[in-house]
Amino acid sequence: MATFITEECINCGACEAACPNGAIFAGGAKYELDGRTHAALSPHLYYIVPEKCTECVGHFGVEQCAALCPADCCIPDPKRPETEEQLFERARQLHPGREFASLNLMTSRFRNGK
Ligand code: SF4
Ligand code: SF4
Repeated sequence: MATFITEECINCGACEAACPNGAIFAGGAKYELDGRTHAALSPHLYYIVPEKCTECVGHFGVEQCAALCPADCCIPDPKRPETEEQLFERARQLHPGREFASLNLMTSRFRNGK
């Protein structure tokens, strides 16, 4: 399931640069997806574009936004259940020029008991 940011966000911005997929945007900022520009998903708080979030699968063993967030407001979205393979495929699609190694506990939260 993609991660999402709750109303507890204090707009510190710490998560944005940490996302390996560029999935996090400031409130009110437009985002790009599939060559098109889209309106912000939140007008006033940082937000995550679910189509760009892989729960950090392919990159890190824990969600970087959640690990850094001082407000503990980056949480899994239960309305968007996704498998590790779905998330890994998304990572490949988001980074078409990159060779990903097989997943392990350093590159998938599914491998470390979380
Ligand atoms: S879980 Fe990972 S990929 Fe998803 S928004 Fe957070 S840092 Fe980005
Ligand atoms: S790190 Fe947490 S509090 Fe800071 S902008 Fe991101 S979601 Fe909001």
